[in-house]
Amino acid sequence: MIVTITMNPSIDISYPLERFQLDTVNRVNDVRKTAGGKGLNVTRVLKQLKHDVIASGLLGGYIGEGMKADLDKADIAHQFTAISGNTRNCIAILHEGKQTEILENGPTIQPAELQRFLAQLDALIQVTDVVTISGSLPQGVPADFYVEVIKRCNSVDKPVVLDCSGEALRQVLTSSHKPYLIKPNREELSDLLGTSLEDLASIKEALANDLFAGIEWVVVSLGAQGAIAKHENNFYRVTIPKIEIVNPVGSGDATVAGFAAAIVEGKEATALLKMGNTLGMLNAQEAITGSVNLTNYQQLFDRIEVTTF
Ligand code: ATP
Repeated sequence: MIVTITMNPSIDISYPLERFQLDTVNRVNDVRKTAGGKGLNVTRVLKQLKHDVIASGLLGGYIGEGMKADLDKADIAHQFTAISGNTRNCIAILHEGKQTEILENGPTIQPAELQRFLAQLDALIQVTDVVTISGSLPQGVPADFYVEVIKRCNSVDKPVVLDCSGEALRQVLTSSHKPYLIKPNREELSDLLGTSLEDLASIKEALANDLFAGIEWVVVSLGAQGAIAKHENNFYRVTIPKIEIVNPVGSGDATVAGFAAAIVEGKEATALLKMGNTLGMLNAQEAITGSVNLTNYQQLFDRIEVTTF
């Protein structure tokens, strides 16, 4: 069983328009609305892998109710903590080959709501094997909140896969409560360390930083260039084949799903890296975020090379 945590979910709305006209009415035919947020992408991929998964986090208002209905329709188990605010909408206007986004900040979370979430989490982690944490924290949640979540998971020996950035990540890295695996992309790692990471050698050097001491796995995903990872004292280069892509958004989330599944399945290092990267690639080959065509799984998996360096 895997529990996914999405503290700041959204309904993701896409409006495809031939031309986006300012200061007048734009009419849209082909509207797509999905329950979004990075953790929900992780959840969907795990569901397709036929892993037992429960989505958790915070949901509220009529939009939260709509999201629950969406998850029920997809037969995805969920145990979200109810909040008094209304869950946010995130709008992407797709026009003239461009993407204009309008992202709501979302509700402000009350301290009592966070306490209720933690109490629910304490019950959930009794029955789970792995916990994934994805994405940003909503307003009202302290920046070190994920430290508390990891502390609770570690106290019952449940490994945590963490995919977040900025201050929330920094707070975890500077605390004594360590996640099992983190998956920054190049830009997130670069922002964290305040250095530009142009080549593989500079990424390897960055991974040796004391900030990552005590974390079992640090995987830096590099989009079409695969990944670089540090596990115990080994450094791995993951080289992936060149593929035709359709939409790479959410590939990092699919990769996280692959890592979580590999941990539950007790895979060794090379297999874990290949599994995560295969799912990232499969996501990039689909139009819908968090969707993977598993018939191509083995063929891609076999074409990935993992070497130590
Ligand atoms: P997101 O935030 O959209 O979820 P990310 O920036 O966290 O993505 P990426 O590094 O873009 O994550 O992608 C994760 C993995 O997915 C890569 O390591 C790679 O295996 C695969 N992938 C992503 N983009 C491509 C691509 N264009 N071609 C091939 N594989 C890709």
